[in-house]
Amino acid sequence: MIPESFKQDLLNRVDIVDVVSRYVQLKKGGANYLGLCPFHNEKTPSFTVSPAKQFYHCFGCGAHGNAIGFLMAHAGLGYVDAVKELASSAGMQMPEFQPRSPEDAARRERQTDLYALMERAMEFYRAELKKSPRAIAYLKGRGLTGEIAARFRIGYAPDDWQSLRAAFPQYEDKALVECGLVVQGEEGKRYDRFRDRIMFPILSARGAVIGFGGRVLGEGEPKYLNSPETPLFEKGREVYGLVQARDAVRAAGRALVVEGYMDVVALAQFGIGYAVATLGTATTPVHVSKLLRLADELVYCFDGDAAGRKAAWRALEVSLPLAPDNKPVRFLFLPEGDDPDSYVRAHGKDAFERLLRDAQTLSGFLLAELRAQSDLATPEGRASFLAAAKRHVQRIAAGGLRLQVVKEVAELARVSQQEAERLLELPGAPIYAKRAPARASAPLPLSLEWKLLARAFARPGLALEIDTALLSAELPETQALVELKALVEEAPDPARLTDSVLAERIERAAHREVLSRAQAALNFELRLGADEAESEFRELLAALERREPEADRALRQRVLKGVATADERRRFEEKMIAAQRNRP
Ligand SMILES: [Zn+2]
Repeated sequence: MIPESFKQDLLNRVDIVDVVSRYVQLKKGGANYLGLCPFHNEKTPSFTVSPAKQFYHCFGCGAHGNAIGFLMAHAGLGYVDAVKELASSAGMQMPEFQPRSPEDAARRERQTDLYALMERAMEFYRAELKKSPRAIAYLKGRGLTGEIAARFRIGYAPDDWQSLRAAFPQYEDKALVECGLVVQGEEGKRYDRFRDRIMFPILSARGAVIGFGGRVLGEGEPKYLNSPETPLFEKGREVYGLVQARDAVRAAGRALVVEGYMDVVALAQFGIGYAVATLGTATTPVHVSKLLRLADELVYCFDGDAAGRKAAWRALEVSLPLAPDNKPVRFLFLPEGDDPDSYVRAHGKDAFERLLRDAQTLSGFLLAELRAQSDLATPEGRASFLAAAKRHVQRIAAGGLRLQVVKEVAELARVSQQEAERLLELPGAPIYAKRAPARASAPLPLSLEWKLLARAFARPGLALEIDTALLSAELPETQALVELKALVEEAPDPARLTDSVLAERIERAAHREVLSRAQAALNFELRLGADEAESEFRELLAALERREPEADRALRQRVLKGVATADERRRFEEKMIAAQRNRP
């Protein structure tokens, strides 16, 4: 059982645009995204995704839901698997949920201070670089200009145990240890973590300094030293150079993942601005999702040696479930002894980009590695090849790519495609067009009930204000309103009923069609802000009260005041029962 609060946190953390665009090419249109619906065949896009409300709706076939629902419907995953998949792409553990402790809350408060400390440290290191002819000579020796050094805000940490004292007179401040700048040694001695190193600030997506990478100037160990994990810096989530690379990635349609920050900077110096680096960790799903969201193509660049191929294999495994059909993932192995820095310096931009164009495809790399493990000349070898392929082919999420790989596997193993599919135990093709066939988007109903229903989605809890006895019982939108009210009443904490949580509840509702149509109408057609929608909602409520026939209204008043006769109470009860019949 997945705790409700975990699911809500997860939905707050993932971005549905991110999730959907792994499978569907989305275009921005105003505040929302639009694309061709993956659930029915269409030529003009009617599939709409709201980044603000975190749900999708297809005006053609009525498909509707949040990120979890999308993965379930599109990748054919079960509920728990869809949540797991999302959690792993968001870097979240599937836990026994633990409530946030007071220490956590205090830590959050402190983060703002830590950002300021990191910023000040960066300025200090940059100023020190200007004072160090040796560090400047080193960077120049690697072909870097002052302009590139400034763009990446490169600095220098002096060869001194406590040089940061100059920037932080309160060197004893616990926060310096907390953000990884100062190390607390044994016997309480404190010293700078980075000494005599070229300093590469690591920036968050918003451009704040969250960590540093330090490289030795000459020989020495370790060659690279990174900030430790801190409240600001989580290695598996961050990518070095992304802020600087973002525009170039968009322009080139390509993101290149290399291993070191020196590679990123050198490539930028030579005109390849779309490179980023992971930070001393293997590639994670968070890295891949982040980059695939920006780029049309992802290329990993690794050294050609055994360690490089091992790291590449790890990147492949992470990418299998994340790579969409329209965004190829490829692998570039450099000649032995070269890294991107040395290669681009020796051969220049054009030669490097030629290598990129010839980079190995994801399927090519996968099949080559699998083939190398088995002897395809023997039946036993082909059987073991099939067995080894199974786990990997099963994890390919993109339907088109999976089909292509299955065909290749079948040919190599000398079996038919159907036999391969059975042996690889593939769940049936992804669920396309499983939903109702496309129908034209009907005009919105004009009833007061419908208008109320749509606006009730503006804020959780609004539905509770509706007196359902006043609604016209025979309308489908009335029944939907009654159900919505029940959904809100059942929620343990109505304030947490965000649109994306509601989208999921609606999917299981008896009146899902009307409810999802109304939720979509408010967000994609009426386009009212929450305040606007709420005030219209209240006007409509007032209109509803006024609409009540005068006689009925008088009757209600008498019953509520306790002055009605037995006959009047009976008539009133009959009306109530009629309204009740519409409850689900
Ligand atoms: Zn559709």
